[in-house]
Amino acid sequence: MTVEPAAGSWIARRERSVPRGVAVTHPIAITRAEGSRVWDESGHEYLDFASGISVLNTGHRHPRVVEAVRNQLDRLMHTCFQVATYDVYVELCERLCALTHDAAAPRRKAMLLTTGAEATESAIKIARAFTRRSAVVAFDGAFHGRSYLALAMTASNAAYRQNFGPLPAGIYHAPYPDTYRGWTAAHAFEALERLFATQIAPDQIAAVIIEPQLGEGGFVPAPIEFLQQLRRFTTEHGIVLIVDEVQTGFGRTGRMFAYQHASIQPDLVTLAKSLGGGLPLAAIVGNAEMMDAPLPGGLGGTYAGNPIACAAALAVLDIFETERIVERAATIAETMKKGLLMLQDSVSAIGDVRGLGCMLAIELVTDRQTKQPDAAMADRIVDHARRRGLLLLKAGPFKNVVRLLPPLTSTKDEIDDGLRRLGDAVHDSLT
Ligand code: PMP
Repeated sequence: MTVEPAAGSWIARRERSVPRGVAVTHPIAITRAEGSRVWDESGHEYLDFASGISVLNTGHRHPRVVEAVRNQLDRLMHTCFQVATYDVYVELCERLCALTHDAAAPRRKAMLLTTGAEATESAIKIARAFTRRSAVVAFDGAFHGRSYLALAMTASNAAYRQNFGPLPAGIYHAPYPDTYRGWTAAHAFEALERLFATQIAPDQIAAVIIEPQLGEGGFVPAPIEFLQQLRRFTTEHGIVLIVDEVQTGFGRTGRMFAYQHASIQPDLVTLAKSLGGGLPLAAIVGNAEMMDAPLPGGLGGTYAGNPIACAAALAVLDIFETERIVERAATIAETMKKGLLMLQDSVSAIGDVRGLGCMLAIELVTDRQTKQPDAAMADRIVDHARRRGLLLLKAGPFKNVVRLLPPLTSTKDEIDDGLRRLGDAVHDSLT
């Protein structure tokens, strides 16, 4: 089932009216969605293992999210939280503080924003205001957003930065541990120490920002010992540790937040994507003293924490509790990992199967020994999968990683079906 853009279709109209910089993976136009499925303008049905880039951990249009949005629409759509207080914003912040609370850690405060990029940028503002230092250390392979400061921290693919310079100063990058490509936690930490010795002293650094598992950068999980060492180091040097959970958060990795695998307490956590269940919403949760460092007026935004998005997020958090989403994610993860490892056994082009929980990916290589990336194979898999009714995404600096992001509310049949379609697509791609 090939779907080509017909003249007059939304794809053709998009090409005429929208710049190419806003790129797209799939040449289809979606007109309807429900749970783990979407339908295109020709009525073709797809299992959605892209989840709007990890936004739909509770699925498309979860009935409780839809109901909460409808109820909120009837009550209050907007005042701006800087104009007057409204209940759902405060309630959501209370719940996010409770969710990230650790008995041994300082009191938490939370604030809301609209996008992940805003959250990572505002986290840097908080860290700079608190430490009165300016430098920021991020990692190769990181994605923290597309607006300028976020872009300066993003280093997952050159295309994101190309021709946009100069980027904001004061951002340093260190290698992210990648055991498949020979970068152990010890190597990565050595490289970090080298950065401190050669480029920027720790007492100049406001923040270190890290994704506990790279998202756009290829679904590479940081070893637990690396995160723990980073926590010790940043505490010792008074550096704010920001964990970017925009993609990894809300059950995706088998824990509510991925940093919990390492039993560390970050100073600031950035959240977005699945928080709003499909509506634009982001948050920063962290150490109350740090969160209070910016002066009144220094943080916020006109739409930040929009009431309808907050109502959706409160419903998302309820769904996590009542439908035991984190536990379900662990079960889905087990099935998926087993399926992917079996596929790897029969397909030598799959060099690596990796990821925490339900944040799994396969890395395509031309040769398992040399690990030469095979981006063309990844493209073929994504295209064949779509023809077989499965939507996937790619990732990684070499564009040779195929990532799987099914809604965590998917049924066992949907996961099995998705794995079958993926297996067929991989075999189609070999010929
Ligand atoms: N951080 C991470 C880890 C992300 O994956 C993303 C989006 N892919 C962002 C930040 C930026 O989020 P947004 O696109 O909402 O600005």
